[in-house]
Amino acid sequence: MSAFKALPIVLLLSLCPHAAATLHVLATNKTCPAVNLLMAEISQVPFPEDWTIVLACTRLDWEKLQRTGDAQAAQRAFSNLEGKITVVNGAIFYKDDVGRPVHRVLLHETGHIHCRCGNEDQAERWALEYERIKRMPAVAAAPELGGSTGKKPD
Ligand SMILES: [Zn+2]
Repeated sequence: MSAFKALPIVLLLSLCPHAAATLHVLATNKTCPAVNLLMAEISQVPFPEDWTIVLACTRLDWEKLQRTGDAQAAQRAFSNLEGKITVVNGAIFYKDDVGRPVHRVLLHETGHIHCRCGNEDQAERWALEYERIKRMPAVAAAPELGGSTGKKPD
């Protein structure tokens, strides 16, 4: 589930900016070890240039951002389309038990951005299709053969 309530801007003022070529990337902690991992991942994911990505470095930070964004059901990430913000749970860089590769978590969020909707299936389909085209550029024009995995994304 994703939440689309506005995150108060004041929240972002207390975060630490990290330079990125196009996106704004913020972390809740100056010494957040996941920042570099996140930077490497988002360079492979088509976020819009005017997007802001917030990395929750600790579980407490994540829970706070979840509450602020009214996204308690999200486990890995959630996006606020109006605020052009995606909040990422830093735990996805360290734990396998959250279930899916970081790349796919981020792609799923760009799926929401692309469909401008909170629909999980639509966002996931977009992510799967993007991955498929990236893997096999030659078949990009071919009709889609596979369907959804049926797994429930965030
Ligand atoms: Zn989602």
